[in-house]
Amino acid sequence: MNQAFQLTGKTAVVTGGTRGIGRAIALGLAESGANIVLLQRSTDTSTQESIKALGVRCEIVHCDMENLDEVKQAVPKAIEAMGSVDILVNNAGIQRRSPAVDFTEEDWDDVIKVNLKAVWILCQEAGRHMLEKNNGKIINIASIASFQGGLYVPAYASAKGAVGQLTKALANEWSSEGINVNAIVPGYIATEMNTALIDDPVRGRQILERIPAGRWGNPEDFKGAAVFLASDASNYVHGHLLAVDGGWLGR
Ligand code: NDP
Repeated sequence: MNQAFQLTGKTAVVTGGTRGIGRAIALGLAESGANIVLLQRSTDTSTQESIKALGVRCEIVHCDMENLDEVKQAVPKAIEAMGSVDILVNNAGIQRRSPAVDFTEEDWDDVIKVNLKAVWILCQEAGRHMLEKNNGKIINIASIASFQGGLYVPAYASAKGAVGQLTKALANEWSSEGINVNAIVPGYIATEMNTALIDDPVRGRQILERIPAGRWGNPEDFKGAAVFLASDASNYVHGHLLAVDGGWLGR
């Protein structure tokens, strides 16, 4: 059975691997044997160095998710660097918080571009390549805001809701072609994205009290779900939104 979770010889493209959930997922896939391509806008090499120390290959392809021309070129560049792409993890995301009446058009456009349109383009580019070889795994990082509206995050909830639907739409088309398209649904995770919430004594406490597991999640919590959805262990799992939320959605 352990063999079913092995990723040796596979190449995974991960967006937003510089920190937080994306960094943990990239490391988790590498720990299971995958070579990694990090799509990132910064020149930071700390994740790359940690992955290389595991004995697998790791390349960085520059890609700012707000620049859609760069996004369109990213998967072809990853294929050029590694020869093939077997796994795509769409993790990079941004958050903008404001009451709806004050929410700016610029914030709306930025969030929809990074959290939805860039995800769609990367799925399309990776899907083209995976369809040619009838094999591939796509994992989109959705959110509990794919199911719930959240508070003061109208663009984020709209984008993440759409990521959930995009995951199902692509799974409907590509499941019979050997491609698994699924999503991971993080709950409240202690990363930079949530610094404001964690630092807010009232909201921070309210959130913690509602999490059945009794703690915020941490990036390490995502390694298992990512390896499962990237590996043969999930070959008959299609269009699924897998909550890693400490039980939040069940409450
Ligand atoms: P972080 O803010 O810790 O990390 C975000 C990552 O996305 C960073 O690597 C960042 O790179 C990258 N990124 C942001 N904008 C761009 C851009 N324009 N181009 C390239 N890379 C970019 O977030 P998390 O780890 O918490 O979140 C990861 C994913 O999980 C996101 O999709 C988020 O929406 C989702 N999620 C998180 C939850 C949480 O509670 N934390 C809950 C539900 C979903 P850089 O270093 O360059 O800024």
